[in-house]
Amino acid sequence: MAEIRFDPIDRQTVVIAPERSKRPKDDFDSSKQNSKKCPFCPGNEDQTPPENFNNGDNIKNWTIRSFPNKYPAFTQLENGNNSGIQDVIVESDKHDINMGDFSQKHLRELLTVYKKRFESIKAKKSIKYILLFKNHGLMAGATLEHPHSQMVGLSFIPRNVEKRIAELRKYYNQNKQCYYCRLVDKTEKIFENKYFALIAPPVARFSYETWILPKNHQQHFELSGDEQLSDLAEILLKQIKALNMAQDKPAFNILLNNGLYDSNHDDVFHWNIQIIPRVSFQAGFEYATGMYINQVEPDRAVQELKRNTLLV
Ligand SMILES: [Zn+2]
Ligand SMILES: [Zn+2]
Repeated sequence: MAEIRFDPIDRQTVVIAPERSKRPKDDFDSSKQNSKKCPFCPGNEDQTPPENFNNGDNIKNWTIRSFPNKYPAFTQLENGNNSGIQDVIVESDKHDINMGDFSQKHLRELLTVYKKRFESIKAKKSIKYILLFKNHGLMAGATLEHPHSQMVGLSFIPRNVEKRIAELRKYYNQNKQCYYCRLVDKTEKIFENKYFALIAPPVARFSYETWILPKNHQQHFELSGDEQLSDLAEILLKQIKALNMAQDKPAFNILLNNGLYDSNHDDVFHWNIQIIPRVSFQAGFEYATGMYINQVEPDRAVQELKRNTLLV
């Protein structure tokens, strides 16, 4: 059973989850031969926990499905301070497809599935925060190559999120404007459409790090309508293709940072997607100091990605 411990000096939270060590791991070098035993491939549905979503018209005929994580870091209880929900969303029936090679229609359907899962998880009363993330490639922490994303619904608010919201509130009180709305207004766009802007954060921690921000202030992703999800599919696909071109298909993380589920934060929090390429390991220096070293000047990355989005 997972347990949560809190370090009183560094003020960090650690989840002790021995179950996680039993996860199967791909040998990434020979993963093409591994698709037969991949638990996320079509035909192997019986190797995953019972699904909570499948877009096919029968159990085998799917291109997107989701189910609870077999090796959760959180205990699936409805009470207690370490309870949570952990879902895996298999993004495609194809074992080794890169997200940059998804069709825009398929990516849009995936975003609709995310929206449905957010709605379903937030309906559980104990849930205070939901994170959606994708780890692509070994350097980004993926243990299985088959494209998948994960959702974690927590019965507590993680400390990083609490700290970020406190700073966003300070910013809002001083400037009478949401920090992310300000970024949308003042930052050079790599690409934009009616509803979204793609920018590089001014203080990018990682080379070619980018953020997708809704142009209109919105606290929760799942409030996005049909037109908005179509625009989001367009801009996300453009960015993954542009990044693949700039860095030769790097490992990356996608984080969808969503708002909290109480109305007190409506003005200060603005949902966003961070796309973080992982081309170098975070090592001793970063661990010891909490500082990051970015080897590519963010403005240079913006210009290169801007050129690439015109080509993809
Ligand atoms: Zn597979
Ligand atoms: Zn805003």
